[in-house]
Amino acid sequence: MDLISIDSLSDSDIATILDEGDRWFDYNRQPRRNADKLDGLTIVNAFFENSTRTLLSFEIAANRLGAQVVTMQVEMSSIKKGETLEDTARTLNAMRPDALIIRHGLSGAPSSIASIMDCPVINAGDGSGEHPTQALLDAATLRRRFGRIAGLKVAICGDLKHSRVAHSNIKLLTRLGAELRLAGPPELLPDDFQGDGSIDAAVDGADAVMMLRIQRERLDEEFGDAPGEYLDRYGLTAARIAKAAPDVVVMHPGPINRGVEIDGALADDPTRSLIILQVEMGVAVRMACLDLLTAERLSP
Ligand code: ASP
Repeated sequence: MDLISIDSLSDSDIATILDEGDRWFDYNRQPRRNADKLDGLTIVNAFFENSTRTLLSFEIAANRLGAQVVTMQVEMSSIKKGETLEDTARTLNAMRPDALIIRHGLSGAPSSIASIMDCPVINAGDGSGEHPTQALLDAATLRRRFGRIAGLKVAICGDLKHSRVAHSNIKLLTRLGAELRLAGPPELLPDDFQGDGSIDAAVDGADAVMMLRIQRERLDEEFGDAPGEYLDRYGLTAARIAKAAPDVVVMHPGPINRGVEIDGALADDPTRSLIILQVEMGVAVRMACLDLLTAERLSP
């Protein structure tokens, strides 16, 4: 089984990942963690795009489960000598890893790699495609805070066109019964977007507001905005959040751009911001994903 998209998962897989993620979250808060569920397995990380949270949390997750973890040094690899991604995958496959975690700038790359690999492949973000483990950790974070997801009003605001986090979250949170409100600047809304994309309307009465960074690396042209203009027009400010539900929470997959899509003080507000909790949940949910995906390899 591969985890390429939220569509790769059955409802029962999702339930298992959220439940187990919650359990690993508590486990990770213990002073000593020495699980050996993946003892004897080799997990390879191949990240062809930058990452702080996702790469480190996959490394830590695999280590906490007792696996041997290898992270490919892409900058020093033969990709720089003209090797194709497919040939790199054939090479990795010959080393018999037990799971491959891949991030790539090209949407669809993890799925083509999965057809070459004999082990489970996890998509850790493919261009503007999907980022399924981010959505799973977001859902687990929301559920930990509210005890449920069904019926929550969740606003997802920003660069909806290019954000793989948004694409996976829209699929997952809809399946889990949340009421989504989507908003962003007209230039950064998907071509088939319905509605006016107003952030004020999206945040009004929302239980959770998930802000997204402008994916400048995926834009052909500079997104022209004077300093402060984006925040005023499309960002999360104290004035906007005041119209949300009284116990609203603020989320962001990171990296945050303070003063652009979010007022830094809101990102830091310990009563509302779940941003750091999302990072902590990221390790736990990735442990659950690795455990689920490798389980069939370990069963006799
Ligand atoms: N870290 C997330 C991603 O890799 C969000 C972002 O970069 O804006 O998609």
